[in-house]
Amino acid sequence: MAKDVLCEVNSCKFWAAGNNCNASSIYVVSNRGKQASHSEETDCKTFESKI
Ligand code: SF4
Repeated sequence: MAKDVLCEVNSCKFWAAGNNCNASSIYVVSNRGKQASHSEETDCKTFESKI
């Protein structure tokens, strides 16, 4: 289980100063449903826009 989640997506409503994630849990998926072979091919599905 991931204990500390660092994230630089500061447009997310769960983002907090110091690049911390305040969500109680996060769900990470392969982007576009394809099998990921690089970190760039993963996305945080828990993301919610601040706006
Ligand atoms: S929910 Fe995902 S995108 Fe949002 S701050 Fe946490 S790790 Fe980053």
